[in-house]
Amino acid sequence: MAVPYNWPPLAVYLWLFGAAAAAAAQTAPPPQLLSMRPDHTSVRRVYLEGGLLKVAEGTRFKLRLYGSGLRRSGLLGDRGRGLAFAELGGGRGGQSDQWLCRQDNSDIGVVSLTVGERTATVELEARFLRKGDTVKYYTLCARVGGPDARDWVHFRRPDFHLVVVEKEKTTSVKFKVLVTLLFVCLSTLFSILNLSLMALDPVELRVIKNSGTEEEKKYSEHIESVRKHGNYLLCTLMLGDVLMNCSLTVWLCEIINTTWLTILVCTGCIFFFGEIIPYAVCSRHGLALASNTIWVTKFFMILSFPASYPISKLLDLILHQQISNFYTREKLIEMLRVTDPYNDLVKEELNIIEGALELRNKTVEDVMTPLSDCFMLSSDAVLDFATMSEIMQSGYTRIPVYENERSNIVDILFVKDLAFVDPDDGMPLAIMTKFYNHPLHCVFNDAKLDEVLEDFKKGKSHLAIVQKVNNEGEGDPFYEVLGIITLEDIIEELIKSEILDETDMYTDNRTKKIAYREQKPHDFSLFKDSEADLRTKISPQLLLATHRFLATGKGGS
Ligand code: ATP
Ligand code: MG
Repeated sequence: MAVPYNWPPLAVYLWLFGAAAAAAAQTAPPPQLLSMRPDHTSVRRVYLEGGLLKVAEGTRFKLRLYGSGLRRSGLLGDRGRGLAFAELGGGRGGQSDQWLCRQDNSDIGVVSLTVGERTATVELEARFLRKGDTVKYYTLCARVGGPDARDWVHFRRPDFHLVVVEKEKTTSVKFKVLVTLLFVCLSTLFSILNLSLMALDPVELRVIKNSGTEEEKKYSEHIESVRKHGNYLLCTLMLGDVLMNCSLTVWLCEIINTTWLTILVCTGCIFFFGEIIPYAVCSRHGLALASNTIWVTKFFMILSFPASYPISKLLDLILHQQISNFYTREKLIEMLRVTDPYNDLVKEELNIIEGALELRNKTVEDVMTPLSDCFMLSSDAVLDFATMSEIMQSGYTRIPVYENERSNIVDILFVKDLAFVDPDDGMPLAIMTKFYNHPLHCVFNDAKLDEVLEDFKKGKSHLAIVQKVNNEGEGDPFYEVLGIITLEDIIEELIKSEILDETDMYTDNRTKKIAYREQKPHDFSLFKDSEADLRTKISPQLLLATHRFLATGKGGS
């Protein structure tokens, strides 16, 4: 027979459960508070001194409490009613901890509380002290005995000798404003000195000293002696500027005591007075300001000597010397172009400067007259009327003379060599060129224009034959004549415009743009004698004398 199973009554279960819970509670360590520290400190309002946390009256501050089982303690859910502050020496002596902690006349109020298992953050407010009080000492009381804790624990350990509410050392508004103004003014001054003195490098200063107006010359002379110690000056001014800006920030932080407001005011002050105004002023009157305040700069240099001089020497050692702004040829040209609307140069001046600067970048080949366009004479030509008028028609003063083929230039004929030549004599050109024997001036196609200009200046022929070394194909390299270049070609590049002389046919020999002339080309055929003129001219007297002579028969045999 089956024995019916009797379930134990519910009370037994409950008893067992209760016993287990009690055992668990017994094994968990009791909640306890171990230490505390301020969440953040400030120089004048919340600070640690001699192991004590000092707080100025009227200040909100945060304390971080450390312990274990804090969530289980009376701090939790009590909205800070588990914390209190007992005034040290508050009673008449002999009072219990409970009495001391329960007194609600503390100058420290709990604003908010966040509790974790091991830490709790409590925001407190140190209220203003009553009249006559200058300082009050408090120690922490807490109900950390567990959820049922009713009793206060008075933490008398030095760790918790915590808060001293001090009457704030009041500084008058006038003083605060004065100090703030002083920092702002000094910050502005350092920025101005920095911008006005460092904006000009020694080279620019020398340029102004030599080419500026009388006033500018005077200013730059003043500045030069200080400016040459570039790194020392830089260290002095930067040090001063940074020092003033930092001091202003800390000072404002102290007197305003609200972080976001301090950031706002400080940024505004440094932005306007430390940056914008100095920039605006220095961009217009930098030189005058730097010169007139040079004694202030010298004073600061002496004052900061111990710090800035060694740093500057180190910089000198590492960076050698301060690098000035040097302009390359390209930068100089670009600067002239960009500043064209603002500088007082006329277009022609600008062209000449640009041309002079670009001369070194151009080669002979870029500006020469190609061989195919050259007016030349063959060495076997005869200086008769046809040749002479051809020379005159061409308008050129220097005419290369070739032998057999145009690329073989052997001589050069100057038109003034023809002064004694009578076209009727039909003198061979070779005799003339041999007589004058002008040396040929040859340049290479890749020679720079400034080099060729130097050659022309030295008295060589103002027409040079352009040649290149041709090493293409088989056989030995040889000189290949490409064209000619004259002084005028270079000067045209120098001034960046075309020169048209009285006989030029083209404004530009390369583009072959015909020069406009009001005067028609000369017709040299007028100088040529007619056939009748070419016959021997005999005067009537000579004709009569000849007739008589022949009639007397003396002219016969
Ligand atoms: P000058 O002006 O000294 O009397 P020019 O008028 O004959 O001499 P340039 O003024 O030096 O010659 O040169 C003017 C242009 O004519 C230049 O572009 C030059 O290259 C070109 N040129 C000069 N001589 C000749 C020549 N024989 N054949 C073709 N072009 C020439
Ligand atoms: Mg000419």
